[in-house]
Amino acid sequence: MTAVVRAADSERDQQRAAAALRAAGLRPGDRLLVSAVSSPALLAVVLGALRTGVVPVVLDPALPAAERAVLAADADPALDVGAEPQRLLTGTDRSALADVPLARPVHYTSGTTGRRKGVWSGVLDDGDARALAAEEIDLWGFTAADRHLVLSPLHHSAPLRFAVHTLLAGGEVLLPGPFDAARAAAAITALAPTTAFCVPTHLRRLVARDDVDWSSFRRLVHAGAPCPEPLKRAVLAAAPAGSVWEFYGSTEAQFTVCAPEDWLAHPRSVGRARPGRRLETDERGQLWCTVPRWARFEYWRAPEKTAAAWRGDRVTVGDLGRVDPDGTVWLDGRREDLVISGGVNVYPAEVEAVLDAHPGVVESAVVGVPDEEWGQRVVAAYVGAADPAELGAWARQRLAPAKRPKSVHRLGELPRTSTGKVRRLDLPGVLGL
Ligand code: ATP
Repeated sequence: MTAVVRAADSERDQQRAAAALRAAGLRPGDRLLVSAVSSPALLAVVLGALRTGVVPVVLDPALPAAERAVLAADADPALDVGAEPQRLLTGTDRSALADVPLARPVHYTSGTTGRRKGVWSGVLDDGDARALAAEEIDLWGFTAADRHLVLSPLHHSAPLRFAVHTLLAGGEVLLPGPFDAARAAAAITALAPTTAFCVPTHLRRLVARDDVDWSSFRRLVHAGAPCPEPLKRAVLAAAPAGSVWEFYGSTEAQFTVCAPEDWLAHPRSVGRARPGRRLETDERGQLWCTVPRWARFEYWRAPEKTAAAWRGDRVTVGDLGRVDPDGTVWLDGRREDLVISGGVNVYPAEVEAVLDAHPGVVESAVVGVPDEEWGQRVVAAYVGAADPAELGAWARQRLAPAKRPKSVHRLGELPRTSTGKVRRLDLPGVLGL
């Protein structure tokens, strides 16, 4: 059953949570650890904390105990409510709350390219808090008339931000539970959401169905991983005109926004810098973004990572790309994923785009493995009915020699993080290479 969170009901619980946090002695900047499935209680506790300046650290409840213990020790919380945020909602005391978040959650990145990093923005002053909330609400045009469908777990930054800002704008949040395409399709048809945030994997599973009524969406926003062109075109055809938006961002910050007309004019781009941002590349092709003060962050208790990420007011999260003179931004992939084969830079995303264009490929992933002769060689895995030899020939016809996969492997599924992103790091192990 889909839980429906109404702003007014949540407000009462947020006040109870804030009162409980104050009674427990928590002060602005203190961390509150929660590792719970997405629920109305989780949202109320997160918002109650944020609106008193307490920083909620929301962990994936499915983390193995050892990994949870490492992150919990790192976060150093003043209070850990574990899987039971509802414990904070039982009192009758209802504390006054700021009307905007005074803190930003600290999230751990999902570790697609290695170890998870804690992202910290701490406590905001009133002006920054207002600017941050207004920016997000304006960007997506959230109003009290919105019903926002949550498809990804709230322990990730974008899903939590969308839900929080919908509630702050007075709208409703719909929580259908862990992603399941049939359940999501039923929730869409029954509850007519106006907005949703999703990753391409969700879109792939939803467009494959014939029982999704897309007509209620005014903003169907996706991000987090490259969306193959055929999939994007299928979603654009299925959803109402003007509704399919994309952005490029990370746990740390949001960099671009891509309106449907921008994507159609520049297919495969990730749009343009968000208002108030500027994007440029350095000599190595790494993207740097100038961000406003209220969107700054650091890596929690990792000053060397923070120092490496920032140059003045510009920051990089290690993505490689291009910016056209008209401001259109293109992503080539992540620095960590770059394959260097015989001295040639090979971006896995470019090779994957070629493989994904084959009609027998549902999705693909490309990785570099050590090679005595070339330093690294390109290896591809894919899901789909295509014959591996035929797909290898398809790639050879379309790619320069260094970019051609030297072996092509059909898999039942690709290794993924809990966000549904392909974890290329795991591919060599899965392929036994
Ligand atoms: P790690 O923990 O290794 O830093 P992560 O995968 O947890 O990584 P996230 O913040 O979840 O980090 O993902 C951010 C990354 O996802 C971006 O740096 C970019 O590479 C990729 N990404 C985000 N949006 C898009 C998009 N629209 N198109 C293509 N790639 C995207």
